[in-house]
Amino acid sequence: MTRQTTLRDPAALLDAGLIPAGRLSELERVAARYAVSLTPDLAALIDPSDPHDPIARQFVPDAAELLSREGETADPIGDDTHSPVEGIVHRYPDRVLLKLVHVCPVYCRFCFRREMVGPGRRQSLSRAALAAALDYVRAQPEIWEVILTGGDPLILSPRRLGEVVRALGTIEHVKIIRVHTRVPVAAPDRISAALVRSLKVTGKSTYVVLHANHPRELTAPARAACARIVDAGIPMLSQSVLLRGVNDDAETLGALMRGFVESRIKPYYLHHGDLAPGTAHLRTGIDEGQALMRALHGRLSGLCQPAYVLDIPGGHGKSPIGPSYLEQAKDAGSYVIEDFHGRRHAYPPPCRQRD
Ligand code: SF4
Repeated sequence: MTRQTTLRDPAALLDAGLIPAGRLSELERVAARYAVSLTPDLAALIDPSDPHDPIARQFVPDAAELLSREGETADPIGDDTHSPVEGIVHRYPDRVLLKLVHVCPVYCRFCFRREMVGPGRRQSLSRAALAAALDYVRAQPEIWEVILTGGDPLILSPRRLGEVVRALGTIEHVKIIRVHTRVPVAAPDRISAALVRSLKVTGKSTYVVLHANHPRELTAPARAACARIVDAGIPMLSQSVLLRGVNDDAETLGALMRGFVESRIKPYYLHHGDLAPGTAHLRTGIDEGQALMRALHGRLSGLCQPAYVLDIPGGHGKSPIGPSYLEQAKDAGSYVIEDFHGRRHAYPPPCRQRD
């Protein structure tokens, strides 16, 4: 049976049977530091009898979050160092993030903005701050793409989203509006016809990027919500975070990527876990991520291949960190290339001797 209310603290998780009573006080200490929220749709996917449940691992707090490791920082991808005005992050020349809200329907335990999002953290953009952010975009002709993120922008009403999208629609040099969201899996019923309509504006192309990390998140209602978006002519892409104990095996990751493609969502990014405080227990090694990418390359259609990327700490942007299949050979202009079986081939192929 699907629970009807969003679970917002450890006591509610206890009542729902998702944590044992013995963990309550330590998890209350975690919840005092980082926001907790678990929607009915995602709570219903958790098997409470499985201590390693991959959905619980993403959303149910863990005492390990109280341990910060060396290198972990409050702003691991350097949003604040690239924020010229409130709500805008301008890291790359041709695109900006527009952070409308700092709340989400669910709070991921590995969130890279965990020090910014949640009740009592940063405020949503006021009307005046939004106007200043739009003025910034208007004044920078190199901005081709605006990415609505946060927090989760699809937590806003269709009316409010529509106002923002229409305002972006008046800026000649902005051609692309991209929306980053977890709502289609966390609260699929929110993806109403009115909300989908609000994302479109004449003369601009809208893309929706879904964040999901485990194939179980792609439920029938979640897939139907995505279909409502795609059927309206809005292409969808995916982003996932590589997480220990959630999707760090080839079978699970492959099923996730196939689930995206079956839902007409092109896999886009597989993020290496960011150095957010208290998230070491969920991060893998880069070598593990590369081995998984090799496994996907061998077994799945090219449609199912995301780019494995690392956001360089300090705000230096993303770089691909997937495995390389090409090596320079000893002879100038020659290479050795590896195929999907792991067999190596000279390129160009050696000339055959003629008789
Ligand atoms: S939905 Fe995104 S911003 Fe919100 S908690 Fe999860 S990772 Fe963070």
